[in-house]
Amino acid sequence: MYEQLKAELTGRLILPGEDGYDDRRKIWNTAFDKLPAAIVVCKADTDAVAAVKFAKANDIPVTIRGGGHNVAGTSICDGAIMIDFSEMRKVTVDLERNTAIAEPGVTLGDYDTETQKYGMVTPTGTVTETGIAGLALSGGTGYLRGKFGLTSDNIVSARLITADGDHIKVSAQEHPDLYWAIRGGGGNFGIVTSFEFQLYPLGPEVLSVDVMYDYKDAKQVLRNAQAFLRNAPDDVSFNMMTFQMAAAPGIPEPLHNKRVIVIAGLYAGESDKDEGYQAIQPLRELAEPLSDNTGIVRFTELQSRFDLAAPNNVAVAGTSLFIKEMNDETIDALLATIEQLPSPSLLVQFWECHGKMNRIPSAATAFAVRDASFLLCFDVDYPMEEEQKIKAWIESAYEAMLPFSVRKTSYLNAVKADRQITKATYGDNYERLAAIKLKYDPTNFFRHNHNIEPQA
Ligand SMILES: Cc1cc2nc3c(=O)[nH]c(=O)nc-3n(C[C@H](O)[C@H](O)[C@H](O)COP(=O)(O)OP(=O)(O)OC[C@H]3O[C@@H](n4cnc5c(N)ncnc54)[C@H](O)[C@@H]3O)c2cc1C
Repeated sequence: MYEQLKAELTGRLILPGEDGYDDRRKIWNTAFDKLPAAIVVCKADTDAVAAVKFAKANDIPVTIRGGGHNVAGTSICDGAIMIDFSEMRKVTVDLERNTAIAEPGVTLGDYDTETQKYGMVTPTGTVTETGIAGLALSGGTGYLRGKFGLTSDNIVSARLITADGDHIKVSAQEHPDLYWAIRGGGGNFGIVTSFEFQLYPLGPEVLSVDVMYDYKDAKQVLRNAQAFLRNAPDDVSFNMMTFQMAAAPGIPEPLHNKRVIVIAGLYAGESDKDEGYQAIQPLRELAEPLSDNTGIVRFTELQSRFDLAAPNNVAVAGTSLFIKEMNDETIDALLATIEQLPSPSLLVQFWECHGKMNRIPSAATAFAVRDASFLLCFDVDYPMEEEQKIKAWIESAYEAMLPFSVRKTSYLNAVKADRQITKATYGDNYERLAAIKLKYDPTNFFRHNHNIEPQA
């Protein structure tokens, strides 16, 4: 049956049992050990068009793999055709338009490496192996969000394959309804075969914040971070995270097995000016630091700082919530939740939300949550025999923090694919998204995602 599709491809078709099948079906979160009906390794846009037409004609579901990093494992599923873009990773900078074109398999590392050759950036995320496609379609939050907004806010145009197999351009002028929907609406509306992103001058060196605090001071650190946020300049964006240090060579002994709270951030103004140091100073004094390596680094170095800390080749359970305010009540509930943790390998992240990302009106793009103070993410990696215990803890952590959330919203790039969570997160934008879905994908062909069901 697959002969016809195989003949049309520039890339490769891999069927179960064939060479490469087991390697190709691995995604970042190994909890998803799925057996796709076939894998189409795309070398050109036309491969994805052929795969969509074939799948539609034969009533086979499809999944789309960009960087394969989604914690919900939506890029793969039993019995579906996986459209794999991991060999389409070209980035082309256009200095006349101040934009860059990214193919759908581009990772954040690929993107930064190429754009930094020209001293340019787009706001993306903070781990180099993450795919830009999934990240950008559902938001995209990194060290430049205060100044330039989310990655999705910086999509200038895209090429997209619809459920009918049409390959169209989407921009403010062409299919403006789809242009609105893909800036936050995830993989619901079609397969993006290239993105055009806005570029801004920055780098190659930047002033980066890099401070470690003792977890015993977590309450003070979080409270002071919230206070800083009230008047934080757009130029400063930062992430905080708490985890337990390993007892490994290279790590000073007093830190072995110690739970710490780390803050990593960026000043996006001119790095050689005193204003930058003044602007970030409060983040270096949230409590008494254990270490402070704040200083000038290459932008690409900052972007890869947490590559080794990100778990790899492990099963992960994760969840997220947008938080209204990190006040004492929220902090007490959070610290009590962390106390209940059944495993030392918990990573809790607090990504502040302010500046440009919050000033864009909720209805301006599909990405609706523009009034949170922090995005809270819990991730635990685990051996398979502990799956039930860890998943139960993740659910209980989610429930415990729900009362402190912004309208029960989550970051869809960091939460299970769940109907209620998806609906709550899109909020007032959901109906408009469902109507656009009905227009372009009435049979819900693109459904292995944080799904928006077609409806009038
Ligand atoms: C280690 C790690 C670090 C992370 N750091 C950050 C961070 O700093 N900031 C942040 O915002 N997020 C971060 N994330 C979350 C990240 O944004 C999501 O995991 C995102 O979905 C990754 O995109 P991907 O292309 O790698 O995912 P995939 O798993 O390949 O795809 C996820 C979904 O996106 C859709 N999709 C992918 N490609 C296409 C396409 N071409 N056309 C249409 N739909 C498509 C599909 O619905 C697919 O199921 C991180 C995740 C991990 C694992």
